[in-house]
Amino acid sequence: MTLHQTNLTTAELRAIDAAHHLHPFTDTKGLNAEGARVIVKSKGVHLWDSEGNTIIDGMSGLWNVNVGYGREEIIDAVARQMRELPYYNTFFKTTHLPAIELARLLAEVTPPGFNRVFFTGSGSESNDTIIRMVRHYWAALDKPEKKIIVARHNGYHGSTMGGASLGGMKPMHAQGGLPIPGIVHIAQPYWYGEGGDQSPEAFGLWAARELERTLDEIGADKVAAFIGEPVQGAGGVVIPPATYWPEIQRICRERDILLISDEVICGFGRTGAWFGCQHFGYEPDIMAMAKGISSGYLPIGGVMVSDKVAEVIANAGDFNHGYTYSGHPAACAAAIANIRILLDEKIVDRVRDDIGPYMQKQWLALADHPMVGEARMVGLVGALELTPNKATRAAWPAEIGTVGTITRDISFRNGLVMRATRDVMIIAPPLVISHEEVDDLVRITRKTLDEAWAEAKHRGYV
Ligand code: PMP
Repeated sequence: MTLHQTNLTTAELRAIDAAHHLHPFTDTKGLNAEGARVIVKSKGVHLWDSEGNTIIDGMSGLWNVNVGYGREEIIDAVARQMRELPYYNTFFKTTHLPAIELARLLAEVTPPGFNRVFFTGSGSESNDTIIRMVRHYWAALDKPEKKIIVARHNGYHGSTMGGASLGGMKPMHAQGGLPIPGIVHIAQPYWYGEGGDQSPEAFGLWAARELERTLDEIGADKVAAFIGEPVQGAGGVVIPPATYWPEIQRICRERDILLISDEVICGFGRTGAWFGCQHFGYEPDIMAMAKGISSGYLPIGGVMVSDKVAEVIANAGDFNHGYTYSGHPAACAAAIANIRILLDEKIVDRVRDDIGPYMQKQWLALADHPMVGEARMVGLVGALELTPNKATRAAWPAEIGTVGTITRDISFRNGLVMRATRDVMIIAPPLVISHEEVDDLVRITRKTLDEAWAEAKHRGYV
């Protein structure tokens, strides 16, 4: 008998989970003392837990359920594919229909000049693939010494050895002997936290020119590529000033290094453009994709390769790289059905022209709350900087992240999933969220802020 067929209580389910399940990014002892929330059902933008509570999923799972839960088109497409061909590989001179169709569809929805994809199972695998691919690219051009990849502090590119090394998360580097050699981190374009007295525009240029200064130091002849997220997601929804990306692109072109856009969060409509690079106005050479490619219905990712890079890779003999699940047929079927929904329902345009601006107006208005130092949002991804002092943008006297965690827990109790990174509250709802659901989400957020502010005062943090 499976758990689905039993009537175990929440406490019993938690006990089994605690006994047998190690959760990602989790203090196991702390979690088990509290017990995990058991999510049992979903529809649209809503989740239900085992206690019967209804919750708005303000994070789209992990920023990935772009078309919302319960989409029958995806479920049917996967079931059909499972019956037809649940698995076959794409190694050894074989291919299959879903991989062919998805590859063609991706060429259609990605920016001009992107016509080839290398399939992976996740964002981390996409970025690990990119590390090897860009080094292979330069070796094929007789420049094997171009190996170093420049990334940013507080960036997030995954949890594998390569992905976590590209990422600039100190707590991750502290475990498991990271970063791997050949990765250099530069400043992030985080104006609120690090901009000081500079205008956002001036700070954006300064942060981009960190790349130029780094290239001067180490020599562009040793550098393969620069990688960045259009908007740093896990780092706290860091939305760069408008000056940042065009300047990064200028430097990459002038110094002959590849520009990689990690579109794992921003891809497939999150910013109101199909890809974040289109929103911010730059043209990468390679894009990492995952998450929204299938809205999370099945795990799949990909590396989208521009013609410039693809021509070299395609003519450089074997690329000794690949995953058992590169182009998994059922996962491809989920991605195809998902992208068709995005196209048919014009969901990306809706984020740009309708629901995005509608939510941004309400979200940015939260900046009037005494606890909010800055409210920011692009498309349907946003953040609130929590501070005890709006005028000085001060950090909390309590340990960093305490107030964020308190606020997140209150929000959950009030029926809304928000994420906390440090003391930054993050929101990224499904792109299909309705106007009424946005009203609901913002109303719960404001109530949560009021309660968190009262709690912070009660604890003497203000
Ligand atoms: N890149 C970015 C920008 C991400 O946000 C993430 C996941 N949050 C990843 C890569 C890693 O993706 P995955 O968890 O699918 O390996």
